[in-house]
Amino acid sequence: AWSAATGEREVLLAAPRSFCAGVERAIETVEQALERFGAPVYVRRQIVHNRHVVGDLERRGAVFVEEVDAVPEGSVLVLAAHGVAPTVRAQAAERHLRVIDATCPLVSKVHQEVRRYAGNDNTVVLIGHADHEEVVGTTGEAPDHVLVVSSPAEAATIQVPDPTRVAYAMQTTLAVEDASETAAVLRRRFPALKGPRTDDICYATSNRQAGLRAIARRSDLVIVLGSQNSSNSHRLVEVAEAAGTPAVLVDDAGELPLDRLAGANRIGITAGASAPPALVDELVRCLSGLGPITVTETGEPTEDVRFVLPREVTQP
Ligand code: SF4
Repeated sequence: AWSAATGEREVLLAAPRSFCAGVERAIETVEQALERFGAPVYVRRQIVHNRHVVGDLERRGAVFVEEVDAVPEGSVLVLAAHGVAPTVRAQAAERHLRVIDATCPLVSKVHQEVRRYAGNDNTVVLIGHADHEEVVGTTGEAPDHVLVVSSPAEAATIQVPDPTRVAYAMQTTLAVEDASETAAVLRRRFPALKGPRTDDICYATSNRQAGLRAIARRSDLVIVLGSQNSSNSHRLVEVAEAAGTPAVLVDDAGELPLDRLAGANRIGITAGASAPPALVDELVRCLSGLGPITVTETGEPTEDVRFVLPREVTQP
């Protein structure tokens, strides 16, 4: 299938890439729950936004449901990494489910901020994408106090009941620069704006964006491994495009658009925080099958963040 290349093709791996600590914790939580309680273990929504992860856990006995009312009374239910609104926890309690919360601690932190600001009667402007599961969950902490804005333009026009009582929070997987631009607009409009001490975009999101930025300009094409519903993966595509390099988002090597590879002698590769590292290996293997390649890795490969598992799967 590959013919246009002459000589060796260069593969530039961005680091860090693939699984973050929150995703690893969420997957391990389901695995431990399966071991402890046996199948089926129910999971509300995709545990993380990746088709391969979900398929793999399904084969091992996890049952993914949209809503809590699809879970038989008394069963084990894992809540996904993106977090949920308090109403979901209430529904689970009503059905007497044994709930194991795999919400990423960095998402829980944003929930706490929203609760605190709203509790002090602030309007909370949540910077994020209104239809994303994480934002739905975070908004649910104080639906009457939260306004979602997704862009500087929206931030410039939102109306709040009391401009002296405004705070902001963010979805964890935004594009770092866009989000800070939006926050800057809010700060200009509402000088008394309260906000998190450090932005809510998580370390994994910003590290992956920085890692990709380091190789994007040098690449002819960037391949981002990740599923279509993965927010942080889409932001990686945007980072490459902002650097002037075309990028594609694919679930695995099988989806590689071979026509896009023609003429691309330097291929940058990264993977979203929910994409398994094995998919990167497979992609590199696949590229090497198309002709000779040299592989180099750029960036900071190690991240020392680890989260402890939920008590429900660790307590004796
Ligand atoms: Fe947590 Fe960030 Fe990973 Fe989301 S991307 S699960 S917020 S560490």
